[in-house]
Amino acid sequence: MSNDNDAIILDALEKFLTAEVDPFVHDLEARDEYPHEIVEKMKQMGLFGCIIAEEYGGLGLSTSTYAKIVTRITRSWMSLSGIINSHLIMASAVQRHGTDAQKQHYLPRFATGELRGGVGLTEPDCGTDLQAVRTVAKRVGDDYIVNGTKTWITNSLHGNCLALLVKTDPKTTPAHKGMSLFIAEKREGFTVARKLEKLGYRGIDTCELLFQDYHVPADCLIGGVEGRGLQQILSGLELGRINVAARGVGVAEAALDLAVAYSQQRKTFGKPICEHQAIQLKLGEMATRTAVSYTHLTLPTTPYV
Ligand SMILES: Cc1cc2nc3c(=O)[nH]c(=O)nc-3n(C[C@H](O)[C@H](O)[C@H](O)COP(=O)(O)OP(=O)(O)OC[C@H]3O[C@@H](n4cnc5c(N)ncnc54)[C@H](O)[C@@H]3O)c2cc1C
Repeated sequence: MSNDNDAIILDALEKFLTAEVDPFVHDLEARDEYPHEIVEKMKQMGLFGCIIAEEYGGLGLSTSTYAKIVTRITRSWMSLSGIINSHLIMASAVQRHGTDAQKQHYLPRFATGELRGGVGLTEPDCGTDLQAVRTVAKRVGDDYIVNGTKTWITNSLHGNCLALLVKTDPKTTPAHKGMSLFIAEKREGFTVARKLEKLGYRGIDTCELLFQDYHVPADCLIGGVEGRGLQQILSGLELGRINVAARGVGVAEAALDLAVAYSQQRKTFGKPICEHQAIQLKLGEMATRTAVSYTHLTLPTTPYV
């Protein structure tokens, strides 16, 4: 992707966020309301396929451009960056580790957002220590039958599929050798038990899920082999870390903009507070740290694969 194309994408994003997102963010966040119309427009802009290769209908962007996109989205509303984050982690796991048939089947659907979702890793008793997951998938004929509980799963109420981390062999040691990753589409046995309330980062759905004798076809096992699930999802999570780092920069930029605007409007002792030296020093420090954070988002400019 050339610099010219980057500029075109970022310019289109700027116009979209300014006109169609900014005016609605406050109310959507306050009401914890899912932004259906905004998500439809994000689909049309190709944002659900940012890092999916062009041969599969994605934009084929680099992580450098992706980080700029996430930073700019977050300046408007961080929740929107989460709507593409775990979706693209799932897509990355298929793009990097899926069989050819899985790539042909899923990646074009992920790129348009027809299939949309995230990652189902965390459980009530484990988050950081993913080798402790208890959700089990047992092979029966051409299917696996899944039973277990997942929690804190983003994009699981309004999305329709997940990269689901399970144990296919719960007794193996080390435990990761018995772990596998499936593309799990919503159907009977896959239930959203409840949406979780959050203090911030609202509007985006984060839920607890139940899998009760949920059947997933064996050809949804990513890569077609058991025992590689943990490595597959950890490599996808690299992209998630880029997303979260870029969010930090976007939030800092937004905070700086708001602080500068307020300091120009609020007056004490007969003048705007931005004219007091102590405030100028604080704003200078904020601006320096924000600018340095942005330069730290230096990433490869070749397409992410
Ligand atoms: C808003 C939100 C959205 C989320 N979305 C998703 C999602 O889409 N999919 C998903 O699967 N999960 C999701 N999660 C869950 C998230 O991935 C977990 O919260 C995270 O992995 C941490 O797990 P935990 O909360 O169980 O903490 P624990 O693993 O119980 O850890 C508790 C604390 O101990 C620390 N700790 C753990 N091990 C060590 C160690 N060895 N040394 C030192 N300190 C340690 C941790 O850093 C943490 O501070 C989401 C969480 C939130 C809050």
